[in-house]
Amino acid sequence: MAGANLQKPIWEQIALETFQKNFYIESPEVSSRPEAEVQEFMAARGITVQGQAVPRPLFTFSDCPFPDPIRAALAQQGWQQPTPIQSMGFPLALSGRNMVGIAQTGSGKTAAFLLPALVHIAAQPPLRLQDGPICLVLVPTRELAQQVQEVANTFGLVVGVRNVCVYGGASKANQIRDLDHRPAIVIATPGRLLDLLEMGRTNLRRCTYLVLDEADRMLDMGFEPQIRRIVDQVRPDRQTLMWSATWPREVQSLARDYLGEFVKVTIGSQDLTANPNITQHVQVCQEWEKEHLLYRLLPQLCYTGAKILIFAETKRRVDEVDRQLRSQGYASLAIHGDKQQSERERVLAQFKGGYAQLLVATDVASRGLDIDDIAAVVNVDFPAQIEDYIHRIGRTARSHKTGTSYSFITAKHAKLARELIDLMTATGQEVNPRLYDLCGASRDYARSRANAPRQHRGGQMHQPPLPPPPPRSIQRPPPTASVLGRSP
Ligand code: AMP
Repeated sequence: MAGANLQKPIWEQIALETFQKNFYIESPEVSSRPEAEVQEFMAARGITVQGQAVPRPLFTFSDCPFPDPIRAALAQQGWQQPTPIQSMGFPLALSGRNMVGIAQTGSGKTAAFLLPALVHIAAQPPLRLQDGPICLVLVPTRELAQQVQEVANTFGLVVGVRNVCVYGGASKANQIRDLDHRPAIVIATPGRLLDLLEMGRTNLRRCTYLVLDEADRMLDMGFEPQIRRIVDQVRPDRQTLMWSATWPREVQSLARDYLGEFVKVTIGSQDLTANPNITQHVQVCQEWEKEHLLYRLLPQLCYTGAKILIFAETKRRVDEVDRQLRSQGYASLAIHGDKQQSERERVLAQFKGGYAQLLVATDVASRGLDIDDIAAVVNVDFPAQIEDYIHRIGRTARSHKTGTSYSFITAKHAKLARELIDLMTATGQEVNPRLYDLCGASRDYARSRANAPRQHRGGQMHQPPLPPPPPRSIQRPPPTASVLGRSP
């Protein structure tokens, strides 16, 4: 395994230079807010915290003690106020605390850890010739690495902080060359970073701000030994911030082993969190009905011109669905792990730029894909785990927007039906009664779920889950389809 030759330093025998990690001074506006107002703010945003001496949430960007260039960059982004995870994440991270953030994808967590990272970096002595990064962000996939890099560029470059992204499947030589420029931030997937550490192309001796992003996903992908090997290379008094959409036992044990004392911030439900701004429709069907269902649904989704992301189970199936869609005149693109990195990037850029309305993907696109105008997600094949379902549908309704998801589920995924019902109920969705049949739930169970408290958002559809068809005149693929529908 990569990194097998890396020795864990004996920290007790190493004289470590002291470093500063607490920069937070609460503003008088924040201190003077009545406690009731603070509690109301947190309750309204579904923020819960666990831990000692937790700072108060920040209501506005003017509550946040960021340097002027960062304030200006925030204004330029047009962001009006911190998202809930930022409200809590900013003061915690700025005070040098270790933290776990449990938040759905699209919640603004990248800025929640990167903006304080920039303040942390600015307070450290300049990097010397042989120094590695001050901030390390570990991520599960190349796509997520690139997305984190976009935010690091937006805000980092205005304060003169360089970053480098290192991930597998791309040229090592280029990444080594970039590392030679001594970036203060390295954003990395675990395997490639271990390779580079072993080659001596970078080191973590100066790393004092460590971020584990999408920890649950990294563990699902089997990166635990690599993560442990990497974290062992970082001085133990570092600041560690761990982010995850879910809080399973494996993530808890990672936090226990590497975070020491930490504050846990949860946005939304304590368990699985799906974005409540997504209206979820689920159709229970047979495998052979899927094609018909898809072609009944697509004209209704496509006529607005909005982007649609379609998930299928395997690479072969993605190619097949994509081919079929194009043969029907739809402007479709495909992305999966067999495609070269450069091709994946090109496809994503085309989809982002609106050159095609449909993108068919495997789970390679279920996390980290941040395209803010995807109006709907269609799961032609249901994912293998409910966590993946949350991530897939989380590709729509980014930041404060709303979105819709449509999922076809067959008996093959019956074992997920109960979790799906719970998830939908927790986010105020109408549950298709056929889902109860699928999980073989007793009438009592169904009744008890139906009576469970909901954060209801009004009359969602019941059964059938697909919205009514549009007028006949627009029940055709969009006019651009045949022009754009060439192979990527
Ligand atoms: P993330 O969860 O970090 O992937 O962010 C999801 C999306 O939210 C990205 O498109 C960000 O640009 C956007 N975003 C992050 N913070 C804010 C904010 N405070 N206000 C509006 N949009 C934001």
